[in-house]
Amino acid sequence: MRSRFWIILAGVVCAAGVALAVPKNAAPPRLVVVIVVDQLTPDLLDRLGPVFTGAFKTFRDRGLRFLQARHDHALTQTAPGHFVLLSGRHPGPAGVPANEFYDRTERRIVYSVEDRQSRILGADGRGASYRNVQATALGDWMKEADSQSLVYSVAGKDRSAVLLGGQRPDGAIWFHPQAGGFTTSTYYADTIPKAVQIFNARNRVEPFFGKDWQRALKDEKLYRTYAGADDAPGENMISRDEDSPVFPHRLTGRPASDGFGAFMAFPWLDELTVKLARHLIESTRIGLDDHPDLLAVSLSAFDVLGHAFGPNSQEAMDAAIRVDRELGAFVQFVEQRFGRGRVLLVLTSDHGVMPLAEVCRSKGLPAARVSAEVKAFRTRLFDELEKKYESAARLFLFRGQENIHFDHEELARRRIDPQDLYEEVRLLASTETWIAHILDREELLHPRDLNPVGQQMLHSFHPEKGADLYLIPKPYLITQGAPRGANHGSPYDYDARVPLLFYGWQAAPKTANRPVRTVDLAPTLARILGVATPDGLDGTALEELISEN
Ligand SMILES: [Zn+2]
Repeated sequence: MRSRFWIILAGVVCAAGVALAVPKNAAPPRLVVVIVVDQLTPDLLDRLGPVFTGAFKTFRDRGLRFLQARHDHALTQTAPGHFVLLSGRHPGPAGVPANEFYDRTERRIVYSVEDRQSRILGADGRGASYRNVQATALGDWMKEADSQSLVYSVAGKDRSAVLLGGQRPDGAIWFHPQAGGFTTSTYYADTIPKAVQIFNARNRVEPFFGKDWQRALKDEKLYRTYAGADDAPGENMISRDEDSPVFPHRLTGRPASDGFGAFMAFPWLDELTVKLARHLIESTRIGLDDHPDLLAVSLSAFDVLGHAFGPNSQEAMDAAIRVDRELGAFVQFVEQRFGRGRVLLVLTSDHGVMPLAEVCRSKGLPAARVSAEVKAFRTRLFDELEKKYESAARLFLFRGQENIHFDHEELARRRIDPQDLYEEVRLLASTETWIAHILDREELLHPRDLNPVGQQMLHSFHPEKGADLYLIPKPYLITQGAPRGANHGSPYDYDARVPLLFYGWQAAPKTANRPVRTVDLAPTLARILGVATPDGLDGTALEELISEN
């Protein structure tokens, strides 16, 4: 009993200390809106600056902008990126090393937010939830501090909504390709929330099938000026029925039998997601009282179409224009409803992207698609180990694209020291021109003198869910098999750097030039809200938002 009393007291003291750090005259915002545009690179706000009239312009011209914000983990994918933003922790140690990963305790590939104990609502299939994550997030801290705080997340992708929402949000809502609308899992609710049901009924997705995605702006020349030719080398198609990657793009398929997955590559999904965010505000008590609320919104189609066309394409430009407009109307709505000083809006991303290899090469960068080399190395590795070890196949638990998992039980039985295998692989890899770094499990379990890429890898590493060896390709090399399209997932700047802007509340219009990390966002928001954070966060509150108001 006594120790419990002291824990509670310590919590109160800690929370009070945190609250004092915000200037006395700055009442915390009653609503924080965190907007994540999946795969948004920081340069886009400037490169396409003149065509923006909506939210991107508002954030850029009237917000506080961090010019050097960066994810600090190596595997820059959607799940870890979203997790970091509102948890303040590196993703690997918390159990979100990648979108999916080989779990050596379960001996299978696990999807980061899969939840076999829950079901999806409105369709058949497995649910998704925060159950696998070994950490809490901002929404949980807010509810801990004030049980009347409301926490919602909405996204195109399930992992984005789940990982922004935290353990116990009031709703985590995403688009489900089988449901053909927005839904959630039984982890969060027994039925699809009424407001979402109403939204789905009013915004049916089926009529989009057969429709053409045309440029939002009539002036085609503008697109050529800012994004070059429509049919640029390396661009991919977004539907089987297309024979070239040019406007207009028709959404084809029969959703009744094939599902609505194809819809997720069209910018209409992002427009709908923003509309749903507004609908949620209008149909709940979000922002209406002095208990601070959180609404996280993640726009997923921008990433899906970005993979096909690349970030410099006319399509990415058009999707950005649409997001800028739709979010612009949303920001205006929020300001009118609550008053600018009472709402804090954040714009950021889960990761960047490497421009198409063809675009990089035209700028003199050493970009190449090296999937054949990667495949050849895997074969050579296997053949060489086969010469030394009987039934070498049994040494492996799993061989991924750029990682290797050995079966440690098998190794122990055969008295093989894992270090010897690591050395074998390193030796064989030393002649591979596509590999920049190799990191092994021992180095990551007992880190000493890691280089910056090694440090980032450490933040993507989990002892049970992690591999024995990570092969990190050199910058600008694409190891995936696709002959076209763009990708992300590396530790390099083009994938790791993201926009980070604050608008509203007391965020003064200015730019901050020092390097900051995305793990800093959640502690910053917690400090602004006067909410205590758990021990051991990896980020620290950004002083620009705390002391200089
Ligand atoms: Zn992606």
